Amino acid sequence: MKKYILIIIFILFIIGCDNDFYKNIKDIKNPNDTLVLVNKNNKLKNDFIPDNLVKLDLNYSHAEKYLKEEAALEFYKLSEEAKKLNYRIVAVSGYRSYTYQEKLFEYYVETKGMNYTLMCSAKPGHSEHQTGLAIDVEGSNLDYNLFEKSKEFEWMKKNAHKYGFILRYPKGKENITGFKYEPWHYRYVGKEVATIIYNNKLTFEEYHKKFVK
Ligand SMILES: [Zn+2]
Repeated sequence: MKKYILIIIFILFIIGCDNDFYKNIKDIKNPNDTLVLVNKNNKLKNDFIPDNLVKLDLNYSHAEKYLKEEAALEFYKLSEEAKKLNYRIVAVSGYRSYTYQEKLFEYYVETKGMNYTLMCSAKPGHSEHQTGLAIDVEGSNLDYNLFEKSKEFEWMKKNAHKYGFILRYPKGKENITGFKYEPWHYRYVGKEVATIIYNNKLTFEEYHKKFVK
């Protein structure tokens, strides 16, 4: 327990030290692009709703969730392939509207305080869940918070990129992504880019710096 508290304090320290987060914020010009970068410095408009949102088939989602069609179809393939090994990978969160993100952020601030909230929840407009390209998943241990402990996580680490998904907030990269390690959160970027990111152990921020800007 003590170890976890120290880790959380350390992460808060790292994130707190980086003065660039939520400063010099740019408005996103290409919100429907598969490679759109949404983070603490790049913001989506309040009224942005992605094109081609589809309701996820309940074989791949535990409730009514939405993703952009391209991401949804690849997620189905990923989940099917995992199923062949008796693994269960289903969506617990997909597209979130600006308003929903606003409520979620406020809820975290009220219940957990501002420091914790800034580390684990994005301010409205800064969550890539609003793009319809981000997904939170759950494995056979039925708790997305414990996804890291599931057998599915090991499989996802090695295979998600083959379907165009990346682990968006890796461990030890909190000072680059601005978010704590999230083993359950994946972002669809397409197979080609996901493979480059996987092979070079990059974050999406580093990929953008190296290949997009
Ligand atoms: Zn997420």
